[in-house]
Formats: sequence, C-alpha cells, structure tokens
Amino acid sequence: MIKALIWDVDGTLSETEETHREAFNRSFAAAGLDWTWDRQTYRRLLQVTGGKERMARFAADNGTAMDAEVIQETHEDKTKSYGKMLETGSASLRPGVRNVIGATRQHGIRQAIATTTSPPNIDALILATMGCPADQIFDVIAAGDEVAAKKPAPDVYLLALERLGLPAADCIAIEDSVPGLTAARAAGLRVMVTPSLYTDGDDFGTADWVLPDLTGPLLDPLAAILARA
Ligand SMILES: [Mg+2]
Repeated sequence: MIKALIWDVDGTLSETEETHREAFNRSFAAAGLDWTWDRQTYRRLLQVTGGKERMARFAADNGTAMDAEVIQETHEDKTKSYGKMLETGSASLRPGVRNVIGATRQHGIRQAIATTTSPPNIDALILATMGCPADQIFDVIAAGDEVAAKKPAPDVYLLALERLGLPAADCIAIEDSVPGLTAARAAGLRVMVTPSLYTDGDDFGTADWVLPDLTGPLLDPLAAILARA
C-alpha cells in the first residue's frame, strides 16, 4: 500500500542545480571572494549536501580560512539571489513530475518533501513552476536546517515520515542523487531514482527503480503503485 510520495527537490522536482551554481557565483563575487564554481567543481561539491557545507568544504580544499559568519552571510545572499533568479527566469519542473503529483493526489496519495534546501528556496521554486504556495501541493515539508544531520543521514526522511504519521513501508522516496538515495534507504524507504544533469552516470545500484525521468517507461512502477492504491 502506498500512502505518500516523498520528494527530493533539487535535481528531482526540477533541474535547479545550474541556477544554484550561478547564484553561488554571483554571491561570491558580491562578497569579494575570488571563487568561481564551474560545472566540474560543482559536480564534485554536490557530494557534500547543504550550501553552507559546500562552501566550507571548498574553503578547506583550497586551504582558505573562512569563518562561519562569512559563510552564513554569503549563503543568505545566495538564497536571495536564487529566489530572484527563479522569479525572473525560466525554472521548470522535470518531465512527468506534474502528472505524477496530480495523478497520485487524485488517488489520495499524499505528497511530502524531504530536502536539504531551505524553505524559501522551496517556496520560490513551487511558486515559479506550479503557480501556488508549496503547502497547497505538499502536505508535509521537511527541509533545510530542521535536522542536525543532512543527507546521506536519514534524519530529514525520518522527520517527513513522522510528520506524515506513516511507516516507511507505506511511502516511496523520489531522488536524483547518491546521498539522497542513501538517506532514503537508511530511513527504510523504497526509492525511485531519476538521475539529473549532475548525477547521470552515478551508481544507483541500491535503488528500487532507476528511470530516466517520470514519463514513459517510468509509468511502469507508478502504474503498479496506482493499481495497488
Ligand atoms: Mg537532489
């Protein structure tokens, strides 16, 4: 029995990572930091979950001392910059996402979010792509700094399950990355992976399903889910 889908946000609902990368670079320049993250660098940094954590890792890798306050301020600026880019840009949901959310909701399947990204980023993305506040689509949102340990730790998924009031066996997680897959598996969830621009080619061997996107062949597991629902 499936009672809820639990969605990752970045890379899964939308290919947001390029927008995040650009927002980071703008904020580094605004802060007077001599940092530019190209795609290859960002792909490597995506192994670290959380924007502030990525900045700390990059600083450490480059032997740069950087205090937590500067990281915090630069990251706040980056979040604002990201929101503005979504407002004025062309953010879109990945193929099939809208249909899957709509069809499963019609079957009474609840929708949740379990993400490392911050609530303002979620609101900006959902407003830009679906035209309404995130809490009109998602019954539960577990996000950002609400848990001590970010993915690949299971904490954010466990928080989503607690708020749903459901056991892991009743839910399916949808992810695009190895840290996300690891987090969801550790929470006891079945996981559907749709690799994204930055994760294509990674090893998703522990996933229950790996699908190029949520259209076409992807409808197999979902059709099965809906048939059982
Ligand atoms: Mg992701």
